[in-house]
Amino acid sequence: MGMFDTIEVAHTCTCGEKLPDYQTKALGNVLVVYRLGEKVVVPDLEIVIGSFEIHGHCSNCHRSIEGKAYIKDGLLWRVVEMDEKGNEKVVVEYVPGE
Ligand SMILES: [Zn+2]
Repeated sequence: MGMFDTIEVAHTCTCGEKLPDYQTKALGNVLVVYRLGEKVVVPDLEIVIGSFEIHGHCSNCHRSIEGKAYIKDGLLWRVVEMDEKGNEKVVVEYVPGE
């Protein structure tokens, strides 16, 4: 069984299906759930700024969704998806205090 972590950021597929989260194998792979604005903790590593790949799968149209999650000040602060040309499209961005 493959292990992964979950990025709990709701998003909508191009087909209109609402999806609750993404998955990533880039972090600790210990079934942690990360939410926007939360500290990203990876064993033996402190990430202050960076990005990692995330993936989604639409249960309706079976499209694979490729994206990236950005870390700033150690927090999960932005999620983007790649469009068909490989350009980043912002899904959600963390605003402190909201
Ligand atoms: Zn879909």
